[in-house]
Amino acid sequence: MARILIIEDEQRIASFIAKGLRAEGHQSVIAGDGPTGLDHALSGEFDLVVLDIGLPGMDGFEVLDQLRSQGSRIPVVVLTARDSVGDTVSALEGGADDYMPKPFRFAELNARIKLRLRAEGQGTAGREESLSAGGISLDLRTRRAQVGGKQVDLSAREFALAEIFLRNAGQVLSREQLLDHVWGLDFDPGSNVVDVYVGYLRKKFGADAISTVRGMGYRFGR
Ligand code: CA
Repeated sequence: MARILIIEDEQRIASFIAKGLRAEGHQSVIAGDGPTGLDHALSGEFDLVVLDIGLPGMDGFEVLDQLRSQGSRIPVVVLTARDSVGDTVSALEGGADDYMPKPFRFAELNARIKLRLRAEGQGTAGREESLSAGGISLDLRTRRAQVGGKQVDLSAREFALAEIFLRNAGQVLSREQLLDHVWGLDFDPGSNVVDVYVGYLRKKFGADAISTVRGMGYRFGR
């Protein structure tokens, strides 16, 4: 569990990230403008910051600048529009920070957050190497799965879906949660892609590994 500060003024994106982090077992706090975000980031209460660039009050570059000039070494993952990746990269040059072009899937952002937390040795998620539940185990470094001790190949999407199921074993996850987590914000919510991929996982994990909870979603394990 890590404590993560989200500095983002777009409510929809901020809650998308917060929801994903909660499913990963992290706690998060949202700050909707630059000055509030900077205050929180300097409080020493967080393990990592997810920082948007376009913010009211003070932009993300200035927040980062202030943080570093006040001696904070907190890891920062910057969110940036895809068409300004070049500017962002040059603004971050020489720093230890990472960036994430928008739009993104939660799983992509999560991969960067994990790397940062691991690099800093902060948060238990950073040191976590495998997950297991219900006879299935996932190696989070090699991205390989084993079912009943036998190696099973999973695609990147299947792995991301399996990971959220194992982290939330026994809990019902809605299609929307799964779609947000594995496919991202911009995927058509009417799509049946979640159902299709749950089908793929059932073929690999066994038909009863994931149950359908009518009207609610899916549950891994019992
Ligand atoms: Ca913004």
